[in-house]
Amino acid sequence: MKLKSEIVLTLVAIGLTIIVISGFLYYYNAKSTVLKQVVNQLQSISESKKQRLEGIVSSNLQEMQTIQNRAVLKQYLSKYIEDTTDRYPAQSYKLLLYNALTRIKGEYKGIEDASIADINGNVLVSTNPQHPKNIADEEYFKHAVRGEECLHFFSDAERREVVWFNAGVLESYSKVLGIIVLEYSVDEIESITNDYTGLGTTGETTIGGWQQGKILFITKTRFIKKSLFQVANSTAMHKAIGKEENVYKDLEDYRGAEVIASSRYIFKTGWGLVTKIDRQEALIPVQAFKAISFYIGCFSVIILILISFIIAENLVRPINIISSTALKISEGDLQQRVSIHSKNELGDLASSFNSMTESLVLTQQRLEEKLSELDRSNVALEKFAYIVSHDLKAPLHSISSLAEIISMELKDKASPETNQLISMLHMKVKQMHELINGILAYSKVGVDIDSQKERVDLQQIIDEVREAIVSTKNVDVHIETALPELYIERVLIFQLFQNLISNGIKYNYNDEIKIAIGWTDKESDHLFFVRDNGIGIPEEYYEKIFDIFQTLQSKNSDSTGIGLSIVKKIVETKGGKIWVESTVNKGSTFFFTLPKETPKTLSHNRIN
Ligand code: ADP
Repeated sequence: MKLKSEIVLTLVAIGLTIIVISGFLYYYNAKSTVLKQVVNQLQSISESKKQRLEGIVSSNLQEMQTIQNRAVLKQYLSKYIEDTTDRYPAQSYKLLLYNALTRIKGEYKGIEDASIADINGNVLVSTNPQHPKNIADEEYFKHAVRGEECLHFFSDAERREVVWFNAGVLESYSKVLGIIVLEYSVDEIESITNDYTGLGTTGETTIGGWQQGKILFITKTRFIKKSLFQVANSTAMHKAIGKEENVYKDLEDYRGAEVIASSRYIFKTGWGLVTKIDRQEALIPVQAFKAISFYIGCFSVIILILISFIIAENLVRPINIISSTALKISEGDLQQRVSIHSKNELGDLASSFNSMTESLVLTQQRLEEKLSELDRSNVALEKFAYIVSHDLKAPLHSISSLAEIISMELKDKASPETNQLISMLHMKVKQMHELINGILAYSKVGVDIDSQKERVDLQQIIDEVREAIVSTKNVDVHIETALPELYIERVLIFQLFQNLISNGIKYNYNDEIKIAIGWTDKESDHLFFVRDNGIGIPEEYYEKIFDIFQTLQSKNSDSTGIGLSIVKKIVETKGGKIWVESTVNKGSTFFFTLPKETPKTLSHNRIN
């Protein structure tokens, strides 16, 4: 992967991780803040409704106490029950009671009807002509008879409309005269539950109470019209009636909807009051935040990618400039310089790179100077060797001639020892001669300006070498694989093969001497080999034999140790390499390479 993509991907990955994590944190933070607000709001609404409801209840109870203590009621009632003839004056007391009740109904807002029953539950007088005649079975009556405060929600006998009853006992001198029942309109209480302020479109307040062993809604609910006196299938209501005043964040309401609910218990009546709102509605701000966060997130990602690209581009561009400049320099254009002037690390890198190139130029200049100096001194040295060895030849020739004259002069006169000394002198002079010839040949390699490159057919060269070989032995020089044509100095390639082939013959004591020559076409080189079945070379001399004057033979042999050093010099002058692989007493193979010199080098296979 390219550096730029790597930087972009890394930055985007880091950025995305930060965006996602912070998005989640913000989301949960926002959610808990919204939930907290909803909870606070529900608590304050339910608390205020509880207080309003308890206010109504206690004012109604107070009203009952005041009404219970009205002397006229007790007086008329006692008079009325004393006379049960249903004639005058009983009828007039009944009328007086009726008038008193009608006055009470007019005095107290909210009282719809008032009735009085005897202790058996028979209704004696009522402002409501439809009122049932006996209320002995009604809960409120039973409570009232027992002297308990009693507030009961109930429909009227026909269940046509809802009222609630406040029943109290009328006593005179500790004697129970009867029961007074006040029927209140539910409007005031319903004004509490019908007020949806602060509760959105799904919020509401419900009130429930025990009726005949069941928890029933005693006001209408917002969503189910016929919910009145229906069983309150609501967990929150059960909690409220169970005196648990709390907030519940995930309860189901009577509709099965998930709600956040606040429960309150109403003392005196034992009712439960629940203020709730659907979770879904309560969390609408969070949903909106979620959507906004999503868009902000997408926008941030786009910005992030753009910024990452810009950062990556700024980082990678100078590196690319440096790398392309380095490439041009490596191709030999040392004039190239990097022009980055930023004051950061990349600027430092660019200026270090430029100084490195400057010193490279200087080093190269010095190297070139040294090389040409070396070349000059090499050429001078080789010329010197050539001249010296050439000049040595003349006095050596004189020594040889003088030795010849001396041996002629002393022909029969000299002792056998003297004759032996003279023949040794001959041999040494001959050795000296060969040495000088060798040095001459060695020093000529590479400096012989007379030899020119030409197309050389190696097959022909091998034929010429074969002809030049003077040997009494049975020699077979065999070309194993077809040899190419080379564009090279003829003298050098002849010298090279001649030395290797003649060594293969010289260091070989077999009756049948076999020399094989071959070639392989390598990618950028020609690989040749010359193999013999001679005496072989111990491994420790594989390198040494290529040094000048190195011979593995005795001093008295005609080995000068120059041949292979000339071969090595030719191969290396042409840019190739030479090495040997050998097994003692079995033979040696000399390998050497010559680089292909296209287009001057011509090579094609020939059939041997
Ligand atoms: P020279 O043959 O004149 O001694 P060279 O430089 O050609 O000098 O060889 C150096 C030495 O390497 C030889 O003296 C010989 O001992 C050994 N040598 C060279 N070629 C062969 C060969 N084909 N087989 C065995 N020994 C060899």
